[in-house]
Amino acid sequence: MRDIRALSLDELKDFFAEIGEKPFRAKQVYDWLWSKNLHSIDEMTNLSKDLRDKLSQYFTINPAAADFTQKSTDGTMKNAVKLHDGLTVESVLIPTETRTTACVSSQVGCSLNCEFCATAKLKRMRNLEVAEIVDQVALIDRQSKEYFDRPLSNIVFMGMGEPMMNYKNVVEAIRKITKPEGLGMSPRRITVSTSGIPKMIKMLADEDLKVKLALSLHSAIEETRNEIMPFSEKFPLHEIMDSLKYWYQKTGNIVTFEYCVWGGINDNDEHIKALIKYCRQVPSKVNLIQYNPIGEGKFDHRSIESEEKYVRELTKAGITVMVRRSRGADIDAACGQLANKTSD
Ligand code: SAH
Repeated sequence: MRDIRALSLDELKDFFAEIGEKPFRAKQVYDWLWSKNLHSIDEMTNLSKDLRDKLSQYFTINPAAADFTQKSTDGTMKNAVKLHDGLTVESVLIPTETRTTACVSSQVGCSLNCEFCATAKLKRMRNLEVAEIVDQVALIDRQSKEYFDRPLSNIVFMGMGEPMMNYKNVVEAIRKITKPEGLGMSPRRITVSTSGIPKMIKMLADEDLKVKLALSLHSAIEETRNEIMPFSEKFPLHEIMDSLKYWYQKTGNIVTFEYCVWGGINDNDEHIKALIKYCRQVPSKVNLIQYNPIGEGKFDHRSIESEEKYVRELTKAGITVMVRRSRGADIDAACGQLANKTSD
């Protein structure tokens, strides 16, 4: 049976017209689905029992729900979210003193091949539907209220998948999440993270969504970047920079560069210089992310000294740099560790 959430409001209206119901009923149903995140036709209490029964003959609702939740010693919670076809994605609740951030997935698996990322090993199975993205957010919002006594405050598209490769659904999900009558999230508290697909970055800039953009850079030297993120051969750094300039021009939002420092890969002065030169071209800041081991030996050589050098040199060059502590690593919930693994 068809999921009623696959219908647009207009399609719902058409359906109601066909079965001889008033069009305003369609809006009522739509509100239950998208503003209240209701997962049962039977609970749509402002519809008659007859109408609810009729709807149930035609449609179903396939909620994406937590099958399994693990809690880290630092408070981070990782949900294994079961989808209607039996596949699973992961989404993570990250609490700090004042905020709750949801790290959500956009695809089952990922078609990119970043060597340092566990999700890349899964291959892409399929794109998530709009409702499956919204459900992850609504789930974490409920968990935040239950466990931390406050609503969700931030969303990052840094879970499984490349959001730009599921562009249409990600954009529609953001529109639904930010609608005032729904979850009412501020788009300024939503970050879309991408490995860098220039054409899509420009398209997102044109949407006027007011979200933030993060670019997973990891190396501003083409050769190194292509080695550790092989798909990026198709997207040269200068083209990515063009799209970032366009992004800034259109949105006025600065870009965040995400960057891991790996001993033997990018822990040298040449890389630091290249990074400074690269980020100077567009208003930006750098987040140094702590690498979370995924069992690929070549990335395992952490050098705190080099990280400190990056911070010193970037700061000296007038570039804002933050060091991001890893969260939830004990339950494989940290960046790059999402791989549908629930136990060792
Ligand atoms: N595909 C998107 C979003 C998912 S990855 C993107 O590439 O941006 C979210 C962030 O985690 C990216 O910056 C990615 O480069 C980083 N990451 C991937 N694997 C990691 C790992 N093992 N340790 C730390 N960060 C990692």
